[in-house]
Amino acid sequence: MIHLILFGPPGSGKGTQAAKLVEKYQLAHISTGDLFRAETQNKTALGLKALEYMSQGQLVPDEVTIEMLRLKVESLPDVKGFIYDGFPRTTPQAEALDKMLDDKCQSITALIALEVNDDEIVKRILNRGLTSGRPDDNDESIIRKRMEEYRKKTSVVFDYYKKYNKSHAIDGYGSIDAIFSSLSCLIEDQLQIT
Ligand code: AMP
Repeated sequence: MIHLILFGPPGSGKGTQAAKLVEKYQLAHISTGDLFRAETQNKTALGLKALEYMSQGQLVPDEVTIEMLRLKVESLPDVKGFIYDGFPRTTPQAEALDKMLDDKCQSITALIALEVNDDEIVKRILNRGLTSGRPDDNDESIIRKRMEEYRKKTSVVFDYYKKYNKSHAIDGYGSIDAIFSSLSCLIEDQLQIT
């Protein structure tokens, strides 16, 4: 089964590209940010707990996030594969995902990072905030905190999968279609996914 991690800082275009990849390669898209927002909107206990962290631009604790991800994966037994968007965001999350897949005799196919610099990220997220309705997209200090969390806790996940020769990076600038075309080339030529 295919397990692709779409990686990169907040605002790097993961959600946009994931939607296009899902359509082209018939994979299931799991965005932990979307799952948390759904829980928050439904005012579940998990959602209310997650909101305490999300509203501050902090990562939700690993145990909560890993369990939510596990339940989502298990709810989709018949798919061809998954695109993980916004997960794993810490080394313990990556280890838990590897363990979960290993228990099913499966493993991560590849991690693909979209590379975009900090100033561009702030600009893109503030712009997205005009229409996304996400409170964490409207406040520059929260955006900067999310970027700090990414640098401190998440960027190491790239190196974690690099040890296994699974990490790849592509330029996250340019039009949505140009980035999608680079992604598709990588997926088909190097990873041999069709
Ligand atoms: P995103 O939509 O991916 O930008 O995520 C929005 C917010 O949800 C993040 O700033 C975190 O507070 C939380 N979140 C999403 N995914 C994770 C994760 N894998 N680990 C911890 N927190 C997460």
